[in-house]
Amino acid sequence: MDHHWLPFTPNRSFQKDPRVFVAADGVHFTTHDGKQVLDGISSLWCVAAGHNRKPINEAIKKQLDTLDYATAFNASNDQAFKAAEMIANMAPGDLNKVLFCNSGSEAADTSLKVALAYHRARGEGHRNVFIGRERGYHGVGFGGMSVGGIPANRKVYGSALLPRVDHMRFIHDPVNHAYINGVEEVWQEDLLLELENRILPLHDPSNIAAVIVEPIAGSAGWYLPPKGYLKRLREICDKHGILLIFDEVITGFGRLGCNFGADFYGVVPDMLNFAKCVTNGVFPLGGVICSDRIYDSMMQANAGAPEHAIEFFHGYTYSGHPVACAAAIATLNLFKEENLFERAGQMGKVLGDAMHSGLKGLPNVVGIRALGLAGAVELSSIPGAPGKRAFDIFMHCFHHGVLVRPAAENIVICPPYIVENANIERIVEVVADAIRKHA
Ligand code: PMP
Repeated sequence: MDHHWLPFTPNRSFQKDPRVFVAADGVHFTTHDGKQVLDGISSLWCVAAGHNRKPINEAIKKQLDTLDYATAFNASNDQAFKAAEMIANMAPGDLNKVLFCNSGSEAADTSLKVALAYHRARGEGHRNVFIGRERGYHGVGFGGMSVGGIPANRKVYGSALLPRVDHMRFIHDPVNHAYINGVEEVWQEDLLLELENRILPLHDPSNIAAVIVEPIAGSAGWYLPPKGYLKRLREICDKHGILLIFDEVITGFGRLGCNFGADFYGVVPDMLNFAKCVTNGVFPLGGVICSDRIYDSMMQANAGAPEHAIEFFHGYTYSGHPVACAAAIATLNLFKEENLFERAGQMGKVLGDAMHSGLKGLPNVVGIRALGLAGAVELSSIPGAPGKRAFDIFMHCFHHGVLVRPAAENIVICPPYIVENANIERIVEVVADAIRKHA
């Protein structure tokens, strides 16, 4: 207990009431004191196929005994090629080239660096402004943190963030969007006018390298874009030669009942960032799927360079790690064999209905948003103690055997795709009790 500094956790209160898992199977954990806890959040939006899946575990063990690791630079390994092919084949449009890394944070920074390098390769090195969105989350690297917009994640770092970054307005309209079940609401006003009228003129669109957004704002608390928002964003980016990056670390690999948020919304970005579910969360792996256009431009820019010239100066020791890629291959096969994305879509309807019927009208509930196999219940904040109500509810749920996620004033529920009706009922029942208790 004395040496492990927990990330994104109030460590002082944790010390008084430790929560330690020692085993997991299916949708349940076992704690250090022998209790069962229902995993209502796929651990952190990752364990889509449930815990302790034998085909994934076996693939990892086999890979360790075959090729444990191989250099990522100037050579590679067979698993990386195979995993990249599977991922590219799942991605829409001309998203075909996979740059591997180890996490969503690294994917964010990688995608921003690709954007800079791509524009430079085409003689547009002046394009070095990035546009993120208020309350966006793109991990904790300096790039991702800078384009991210969750105030708490930025404030202790002061001005030590990337310069030349701006943020679009947040997508949430608490009046029109308070209670959403399954479909987006029609937005009353064009949210993107602010991008066109303030942000683009301020920076001059010809200086902007990329816009990065999560199709659905996950870490902020599952806030959905209004109808047509992403399509309009795509049009604006195209008009000005700006790259569009979708951060699909949460929406990727089935959460919305299809491969990616890009498919769900019918909008193809220039880069698509992934992590989490690609290995069912059991081994770190992330990546950026780049368009052919980006890759080809980078290669062409080096056409006259010597054979040994590197086209993109970026990569990690563990890019395309063979064990991670073996885990990804087994995971993606398992998703397919068990039709798990389709199941996520079906169980999403069960979750949305259960949340709306079980939580609407409870004390302090000001919104419920459900889409795909995820939903958030939003609570009014306690004056002077932002986030306290959600944290107290999280603690109550944990002590009653259900793991949920507090996100600002929201409680988020995003169970594994193998979740059963009875599990969903239990999760919602415990959350409802907790909301009443902490009224
Ligand atoms: N982007 C998004 C959209 C995320 O939700 C997350 C993690 N929740 C990240 C990036 C960062 O991923 P990681 O924690 O693997 O670095």
